[in-house]
Amino acid sequence: MNGDARDEGWGQGCGENCFTLDEDGFTCHRVLDEPEVWRVELLMHDTFLPSVNVFVVRDGDETLVVDSGTPDDFNDTRLMRALLGLGVDPERVTVFFTHAHIDHTGLARELAEAGARVVVPEGVLADMRRFAVPAWRETMARRLRAEGFSADESAELADVIWDHARNFEREGVPFETVAAGERLRCGRWALEVVPMPGHTPGQCALWEPRSRTAFLGDAVLFLCSTCIGFWDEGDDPIGEQIATLRALAGRGVEHALMGHGLQGGELAVRCEKNAQHHERRSARALEAIRQGPGRCGRELMGAMGWRMHLEDWGETPALTRWFLASESVAHLDHLVATGAARREPDAAGVHRYFAAER
Ligand SMILES: [Zn+2]
Ligand SMILES: [Zn+2]
Repeated sequence: MNGDARDEGWGQGCGENCFTLDEDGFTCHRVLDEPEVWRVELLMHDTFLPSVNVFVVRDGDETLVVDSGTPDDFNDTRLMRALLGLGVDPERVTVFFTHAHIDHTGLARELAEAGARVVVPEGVLADMRRFAVPAWRETMARRLRAEGFSADESAELADVIWDHARNFEREGVPFETVAAGERLRCGRWALEVVPMPGHTPGQCALWEPRSRTAFLGDAVLFLCSTCIGFWDEGDDPIGEQIATLRALAGRGVEHALMGHGLQGGELAVRCEKNAQHHERRSARALEAIRQGPGRCGRELMGAMGWRMHLEDWGETPALTRWFLASESVAHLDHLVATGAARREPDAAGVHRYFAAER
């Protein structure tokens, strides 16, 4: 690292195996030794999550970057400084995206332009193609109307989440794809691509069985429950997420490297608790249906046990309202998919929910 770099307020040591990326407290910090895994912490936008992680795996002259952070000029600079500080040539980097969300794929174009090879699971490319087209925004608005949200609010919520969807393939990023079960090599490591549907349909983890290390994206976090939204008619994202969490609990992961925050205990315990959290919310939704048969999603949402007071709904930011609406609808989809409830459209096309006979 040269003197100029240090003059700009980065490249300073900040403890063992750690260097600063700027004067705002962002750092690149070694989290595993053999092979080396570095955590680059980048700024997160728009949500209460404090930051997003990029992991840099280095073995010999091979480098694998897992996820890339949100698209932001400062994050771009921070990530490039991390690679420079580690002595990594971007042209010799393979980038892997765990899922299509913008906080993980955001710097795809910058990395591709710097010469990195960009690899995504087939399911992640499918998600970009499915969710980043105008037809999906329409599907989302239509579905929210069918759950009892006003036409204006349905359009507003569809728009706010739409703003966060990007199809980098259409923007010319040359993606290579890997299938589930295939392995991605980095030096001595051969990392298996393992599907983790729930948070998104196509999300995949990278799993290294010898060291029991997993790069998990947003499959599970210690900071909070990851958001689960609805996808399409007949899909059951909550059911998928619960199955993913239980499968992950049984895998024997020792080193869990997640999209946000750090591992704060045993992964299996966290997965089981999070699965039960979703099951409790679905049970509350079912109880609310029993208490008021024929209510719509908008009316049921208040009884699902969200921490936020729904009386303040009007003052709540649109993105937060979308998260709450979308996860509530996903729970109703789960109840319908598992046969615990049925939905019937009324004359206006609004879904009315009824508990299945016990
Ligand atoms: Zn995500
Ligand atoms: Zn994320």
